[in-house]
Amino acid sequence: MPIVVDAHCDTAYLLMHQDKFNYDFWQLNSAGHIDFPRMQSGGVDVQFFAVCTEYLKTSKIDYYRSAVKMINILKSTFLQNPSKIAVIMDKASLKQALRQQKKAAILAIEGGAPLQGNIHLLDKFVHLGIRVFGLTWNKKNELADGTGIKNPGGLTPFGKKVVRKLNELGVIIDCAHLAAKGLEEVACISKDPFIVSHANAYRLCPHPRNLTDEQLRILSQKKGVVGLSFYPDFIAVDKANLDKLLDHFVHIASVAGTESLGVGSDFDGIKRTLPEIPDVSFYYRLIKGLEKKGFSDKELECILGANFLRVMEQVWP
Ligand SMILES: [Zn+2]
Repeated sequence: MPIVVDAHCDTAYLLMHQDKFNYDFWQLNSAGHIDFPRMQSGGVDVQFFAVCTEYLKTSKIDYYRSAVKMINILKSTFLQNPSKIAVIMDKASLKQALRQQKKAAILAIEGGAPLQGNIHLLDKFVHLGIRVFGLTWNKKNELADGTGIKNPGGLTPFGKKVVRKLNELGVIIDCAHLAAKGLEEVACISKDPFIVSHANAYRLCPHPRNLTDEQLRILSQKKGVVGLSFYPDFIAVDKANLDKLLDHFVHIASVAGTESLGVGSDFDGIKRTLPEIPDVSFYYRLIKGLEKKGFSDKELECILGANFLRVMEQVWP
């Protein structure tokens, strides 16, 4: 069984509201899509856990404090069972976790508002364990415009500074939610490959969050990887299903090559799921579907995890 990497989930949100959802990461839950037992049965080995604060609507929110709070709740949850899951800090700790057959948890910022325009806070987040950094969510922030902005622009001078600093620190840059001009600029400025943790093909489903063929080619030139999302709205305008998701894999393979393909479910961040993959325990259906589409064993290994592992190997210390 190949190593499975899922580049995006919002399980931190469930953890922040455990009581409301009656949610316990270590138990099998009816709420949400991811918990440890379901990760086990789904065979996910490496999970990115997003720390997203920008969707919080309150005007007076302290994004920095909110992000630190979310990071702490993720870490304290995983630390309850250090023999089962490890918070990954670098290449060595990832290798060790996989060797010991533990789950690997990777902490990721989704949306750079917690930096509050202060580059020094980036060092703090890296110190706290952030290894992937998404520049924007849907809105505008100090770094750039998100895909939810009308006539969006590119990176601000601060955003460009952050990109260079992420390269210096060995943090993976995530361009999911970033508007098109920003993505092009990241491709020009960053010396490392970047990822798009959760998005699909615009050609098959014209959603502003999806990637055009042009963007897919840029991603592929940079040796980056896109994690395909299970969110129905990113898959089809009408009646999304597994087969239509598989078409996105086939299309992106034809435009950007199989070495650009990965998975980024967006579980626990989506209100609806595909009927065939209602939670993380149903991953086997995706794998079977990809096999049926004619991807070879080697290609399957790359798509399910090896492509993202290659980016980690290249970018992280
Ligand atoms: Zn997202």
